[in-house]
Amino acid sequence: MHQLPLLSYAYDALEPYIDARTMELHHQKHHQTYVDKLNTALEKHPELFEKPLEELLKNLEAVPPDIRTSIRNHGGGHYNHSLFWRTMGPDKGGDPGGPLAEAVNQNFGDFAKFKELFSQTAANIFGSGWAWLAADSAGKLQIISTFNQDNPLTQGLKPLLGLDVWEHGYYLKYQNRRPEYIAAWWNVINWEAVEKNG
Ligand code: MN
Repeated sequence: MHQLPLLSYAYDALEPYIDARTMELHHQKHHQTYVDKLNTALEKHPELFEKPLEELLKNLEAVPPDIRTSIRNHGGGHYNHSLFWRTMGPDKGGDPGGPLAEAVNQNFGDFAKFKELFSQTAANIFGSGWAWLAADSAGKLQIISTFNQDNPLTQGLKPLLGLDVWEHGYYLKYQNRRPEYIAAWWNVINWEAVEKNG
């Protein structure tokens, strides 16, 4: 069975950028629901419990049709949120370092340009979805967006960093002001964790 991962920091640790109540609801309610519905779907094909979720999302066409949409939505939701929690933390933010910084500069010019482009991508998603920094099979970085709980894995890309722009991720504190939430989120990115996703 898939399980809700514990956070490595407290719900209020990302204040004032992401508020404690949003973190608690987002993790305990929204993420838990994705996990529960993923498990319910997999119970129809229990042999798939043994496959890493990443493998299922990479090759959704191989997932039995009767649960494919559930795996895409709830499996994607579980995968995406697990990555989201892992790539944030208190006393983080700033610029990436090391090889990741070099790759960002190489692909986007410099960190400021990357930040601007990523922020625009996240702000422009119509409705619910995610903005991503992802790498192709040659290691080239790109910024993409996905709707709902879709994941770059399904497009053959490796997700390094993702920003959840579903309203449940920011509405309590920021209401309709998604750009303010996006601007605040840069202060909690754990770049060491992002680098490890590469
Ligand atoms: Mn979410």
